[in-house]
Formats: sequence, C-alpha cells, structure tokens
Amino acid sequence: MMSDTWTVDLLLEGTPYSSSCTLLSNRTRHVVVDTGLSIQEADLLHALRAKGLEPADIEIVVNTHLHVDHCGNNAAFSRAAIFMSQAEWRWTDAFYTALFNSRAPERVAPEFYPEVASYGLKTRTIRNVARMARLFWKRDRLGRPEQFQWLETSNLPAGLEVLSTPGHTPHHVSIRVSAPSPVIVAGDAVLAEDAEAKIRTMIPYVRAQFLATRQTLLDRGEMIVPGHGPVFVPHPVAAR
Ligand SMILES: [Zn+2]
Repeated sequence: MMSDTWTVDLLLEGTPYSSSCTLLSNRTRHVVVDTGLSIQEADLLHALRAKGLEPADIEIVVNTHLHVDHCGNNAAFSRAAIFMSQAEWRWTDAFYTALFNSRAPERVAPEFYPEVASYGLKTRTIRNVARMARLFWKRDRLGRPEQFQWLETSNLPAGLEVLSTPGHTPHHVSIRVSAPSPVIVAGDAVLAEDAEAKIRTMIPYVRAQFLATRQTLLDRGEMIVPGHGPVFVPHPVAAR
C-alpha cells in the first residue's frame, strides 16, 4: 500500500496576507493544495522547480475554499484536474458577483456573511475589502471550467481524505494526508497556531461553527498546515 502514503512539502508558507501552498506527492502523482494570491505565481513556480517539478507535473489541484488568496494560481497548472466543492464555488461566485455589481457592498455583505453586523465594521472598511477582492478575483485565475472536478461527486486519490470543515466559509474542506505521521492541510479552518494571530482574511461565515471546527481539528493531535502560519503540532490537551 506504499502508493497510499504521501509526502507533504510546503511550497509557500502561509503568512497573514497569503495562504500556505502545499505539495503532496506519492510515488507517481503530485497534488497541490491551495495556490496562493495571483501575485505569488513566480514564487510558487520557483518553489515547485526547487523540488524538481514543472507545473505540468501537477496532476491535481485542490482548493480548500475559493477566497482569492487560496486559488489565485490555479491557472498555472493547465494540465491539472482542479478539485473544489461545487457548493462552495456557487456560494463564492454568487458573493463576488453580487459584491462587484453593487454600489453598496455593505448591503450585499450580510446576505453572504450573516454575522457581519455583529462586528460593527465601518462602511468604509467593507468597501475597502470589496475593492481588494475585486483587484484579485479573476475567474480565469481559477483555471478552465473543464478542469473543474467537484469534491461532492469525485474522489481524490487514496490516502487523501476530504474533511468537511465549515465555519470560515459554508463549504470549506481540509485534506487529511496519509503519511508516516498523518498531516492535516487545514486551509482556513485553522488560520494559525495562535488563535489570536492577526490574519488579513474575511470574518468567519459562522463564528461558533468556525471555532468548533478549529477545535475538532486540533483535538486530533495531528500535524497541521494552517492557512496562514507555520506548520505545527497541537499541544496535547492539558489534564483537567
Ligand atoms: Zn479564507
């Protein structure tokens, strides 16, 4: 069953501004989970080549969700199948479409982020977020539609388990990788080891669900690649 065991390499480490991009390899296949911001394409491809790989060697791209900092370089992998949640795609596409077609993004936001009012954000802040998203959201950066494969109806290769990890977005997924020590590529289900770290990302879709999902992943005690910080192993729960 050697082929079901994978190695995990970070291509780009997550930062407060941009997502981690992770390379998963077994004997014959290479998979990239999340592809960063579009302005990081050169860095991402440089990291890939440092591993002796070309973009055409990547058979599969997986997006944990479709915020602009996680899928900006899908298009660099023109031969890959691109796996994402169809429900997440519909939600994200509807959100960005509504946001960019409105002169009042602050009125669109609550339709997609039901808890936005509780954050007391200024209209100006919401408009700035909308402006930044518009700068980076380019549908052609997601890859060609014929490359898309829906996680709801297609399976990843053996050894790559899709975990439903909603809360940051409604249909967020994380990938649990069978490796000598299993690794969870969490995406933004775990932003960083420090729960208080200042990360430039969206508010949670549902905060209580986000926190519960984060805790569930940490409680597994397996190594975690968070969306926006260095890899870590959660501390064992202190004896009570
Ligand atoms: Zn995100």
